Amino acid sequence: MAVEIERAEGIYMYGPDGKRYIDMVSGVSVSNTGHRHPKVIEAITSQLDHYLHLMVYGEFIQSPQVLFAEALCTLLPAEFNSVYFVNSGSEAIEGAMKLAKRYTGRPEIACFSNAYHGGTQGALSLIGSAVWQDAFRPLLPGIAQLKFNDIRDLERINSHTACVVIEPVQAEAGVILPQQNFLKALRKRCTETGALLVFDESQTAFGRTGTMFAFEQYNSSPDILVLSKALGGGMPLGAFIAPASIMQSLTHDPVLGHITTFGGHPVCCAAGLAALNVIQDEKLVETVNAKAGLFRERLQHHPKIINIRNAGLLMAIELGKDEEVNAFIHKGTGLGLFGDWFLFNASAFRIAPPLTITTDQVHECCDLVLRCLDEL
Ligand code: PMP
Repeated sequence: MAVEIERAEGIYMYGPDGKRYIDMVSGVSVSNTGHRHPKVIEAITSQLDHYLHLMVYGEFIQSPQVLFAEALCTLLPAEFNSVYFVNSGSEAIEGAMKLAKRYTGRPEIACFSNAYHGGTQGALSLIGSAVWQDAFRPLLPGIAQLKFNDIRDLERINSHTACVVIEPVQAEAGVILPQQNFLKALRKRCTETGALLVFDESQTAFGRTGTMFAFEQYNSSPDILVLSKALGGGMPLGAFIAPASIMQSLTHDPVLGHITTFGGHPVCCAAGLAALNVIQDEKLVETVNAKAGLFRERLQHHPKIINIRNAGLLMAIELGKDEEVNAFIHKGTGLGLFGDWFLFNASAFRIAPPLTITTDQVHECCDLVLRCLDEL
């Protein structure tokens, strides 16, 4: 689209000519606390006064990492007591896959149709799209792709499976929710077979779906949790989190089971902790479902909208036709509404604004969406 942005604040982005855009994408589920939240900026500048990068292998205790890891662990079930910070979602997926193979000694990995877990070659091996995989073969061997929401297909998870990687709510598939009991059945099958369950909450964590983590809504808990995107409060950061009893298998033979120079950069961790504090202090998670409900109420009767799928403020507005979505996004940009496609669902557009969006701003956004649809 090549839209130039000069600055961004809250839910708005501004071009060099002062043109204002409402951000309906949040940099793809990154800016949950809005652009340049003052508390996040303050934490970044304060860390700049202390140190930037120091060292890779853990020789130094870096308090931004320690404090953020502690804060994350207090939000999770007690067994999650070890956090490995990396640079991105893809790297966190790579780390989770390596950890599962190392811990279980097993060679295979299961994933799901229409899944997206990142662009590196391991993460790409899990992508639920033949088109994307075929362009870059050979990829990892031993990958089983299961059908999302098909409980019978879970029988393909077996004693050779090191781990099963899944987004509890599929984002790039166009916001596909797990059916009742699917994640519970998956948890049961993983426990029975000894496969580790990896939840990739890159897009769904930090309140996006109406709870701090999406998995809280589905009676199911992973063995390894992958976080990225909103984790860094707008700075690049990923993490995989597991019980120390599992994580310790990366500490020996070889001694440095996963090496990352910049992973857990102190400035990114300081920003991430500040963003998490904002989410908690401003009670953003508690507001998500009411705001999503208002979007639904305002938009659902428009004749061009076939249906709305949502998990909190991760919303797919289904128009049924790819051309209509293209036209909507281009026209929307002209009207000052920045929208986006989904990777695997071309007939719907995304509404996933910063969680800091106010009720008035939801109305402002809906007014523009409706006007844009009227003018298509
Ligand atoms: N997992 C999911 C669910 C994602 O949506 C993404 C990015 N869209 C990733 C992983 C990869 O993250 P990154 O681009 O930071 O590597």
